[in-house]
Amino acid sequence: MLKLNRRIAALKPSATMAAETRATELKAAGVDVISLAAGEPDFDTPERIKDAARRALANGQTKYTPVAGTRDLKEAIRLKLKRDSGLDYEIAEIMASAGGKQAEANIIAALFDEGDEVIIPTPAWVSFVAMVNLSGAAAKLVECPEDRGFVLDPERLARAITPRTRGIILNSPSNPTGAVYSPGKLSELAKILLEAGLWILSDDVYEHIVYDGPVPHIFRIEPRLQARGFALNSLSKAYAMTGWRIGFAAGPKEVIAAAARLQGQNSGNPNSITQAAAIEALSGPQDEIKTMMAEFRRRRELVVERVRKLPGFKLPNVPSGAFYVFPNITELIGASLGDQTITDGNSFAELLLAEEHVALVGGNDFGAPHHVRMSYATSMENLNAAFDRIGKLVARLKR
Ligand code: GLU
Repeated sequence: MLKLNRRIAALKPSATMAAETRATELKAAGVDVISLAAGEPDFDTPERIKDAARRALANGQTKYTPVAGTRDLKEAIRLKLKRDSGLDYEIAEIMASAGGKQAEANIIAALFDEGDEVIIPTPAWVSFVAMVNLSGAAAKLVECPEDRGFVLDPERLARAITPRTRGIILNSPSNPTGAVYSPGKLSELAKILLEAGLWILSDDVYEHIVYDGPVPHIFRIEPRLQARGFALNSLSKAYAMTGWRIGFAAGPKEVIAAAARLQGQNSGNPNSITQAAAIEALSGPQDEIKTMMAEFRRRRELVVERVRKLPGFKLPNVPSGAFYVFPNITELIGASLGDQTITDGNSFAELLLAEEHVALVGGNDFGAPHHVRMSYATSMENLNAAFDRIGKLVARLKR
């Protein structure tokens, strides 16, 4: 039998990527699929950013750059962190990577080892557990109950910390729940984290997609955490640049240097044209984010209303950030259509795609098997049509 590396053999495909790929394949085969699967803005990358890429191409910026990004890009990231979060970093504390995912994975690989535990509050984005396991460390899942707004409870956090715990991954606004941590909650958690001396990985990818106003960064709320933490981010969502693959990490320079060594050995610099475009994205006028937010707000209203009208779907919390809803479908577990029975979020997603051609992501790999994730980063027209179809499927189920 073929023998793979033990950790790679245990690696599952990314559930978000797999759901979107399946939808794309079906569309290519002529099926009229509506996708609420990918966490990907449907807006086009702003023209000013594309122009910067065209200029870089025309100027011949097509060669290797320093592995962790050009000095100009790191300077743009440094200024962005100051402008948007009030955080001070030096250039040597910044690394650009081919996507937020690569930055995050390299920091995790640089920091953690076999025997270590890393706390992941769940529901959590599907790739966190995989990245931690690849480092050799164990992911310690700490459930954030729905009736507490999917927010980590300080007492649960304190209970989960053992002598082996070395880090935690925080993600506010959260993918998949849309939960946003309040300054009060962040400060309670910060106290525990400071005392425990953990590494804090703050995934800030959805920082701009907040509906009740901005929340200070946890490193602003407790500045002593910055020396033990990483601000992790991507340009994918804020600037509609998913395909460009650009993200970054900022944190203590010894770890950044180690993560950059890893990047230098297994991939190299992020795309040179993308880096030029990213400088424009971060440094130019930031108005597109406001336009995008106005549209997300309208869509959120529609989606919350439509989900709450679906029999068997519960959505107690209106998400305050990101562009996902994460309804609970416990009431549909055990319902069936022909010989197909719904056993969890994943089986509901499969049935929905097969019967009504709507793609979404089952909650299983987010650590919440009685939920499904729907992205509303698509047009109102698509959203309305998708909910009509979901309604049709639910009406056909035998309960
Ligand atoms: N973060 C997005 C999502 O959850 C993009 C896909 C991915 O990288 O997982 O859908």
